[in-house]
Amino acid sequence: MMPAYIGLGSNLQEPIQQLRDALEAIAALPASRVTQVSCAYRSKAVGPGDQPDYLNAVICLQTDLEPATLLESLQRIELAQGRVRTIRWGPRTLDLDILLYGNERLATPTLTIPHPALARRNFVLYPLLEISGPNLLLPDGTDLGTLIARCPQGDLVKTGLRLTRDALVPGDLN
Ligand code: AMP
Repeated sequence: MMPAYIGLGSNLQEPIQQLRDALEAIAALPASRVTQVSCAYRSKAVGPGDQPDYLNAVICLQTDLEPATLLESLQRIELAQGRVRTIRWGPRTLDLDILLYGNERLATPTLTIPHPALARRNFVLYPLLEISGPNLLLPDGTDLGTLIARCPQGDLVKTGLRLTRDALVPGDLN
């Protein structure tokens, strides 16, 4: 199995519930097991207009699904939770990104791994740090601690809101 780190984000329609529902749907994917889940982090929306705050989290999924299959599965979950693509950077009910897939690098028209914005998004790096620690190595040999040192936490707040429910593989999740 490969460890895939997945970023979850929402700023519409009860974001914490969106993240919890997404976690449950991801945990139900075939040939996959959720092993780590960060708390939810709150941040101000970047993008047009006056948008509600975002909640973000990162999980680790041990999976036998290939990256393209995993992306399709995540996009199905986004659609099932009512994501409507309107304006770029606009508000969304659910955004799921593949941040890392083991030590793999990939650049196809539909999928880039590591996620191209990983290194500059505090709302991804800090929850990733929470679950993986600073020694996590990216495919280019950079460790997560180095990326964190270059990316201030800014207005990002760790909320203490948890995504996990008892129904999810008890004892396996932090
Ligand atoms: P967004 O609107 O930010 O969710 O971008 C979605 C698009 O990004 C999808 O159509 C994917 O094909 C593409 N994409 C490229 N790399 C990734 C990745 N690592 N994780 C998720 N989506 C990706």
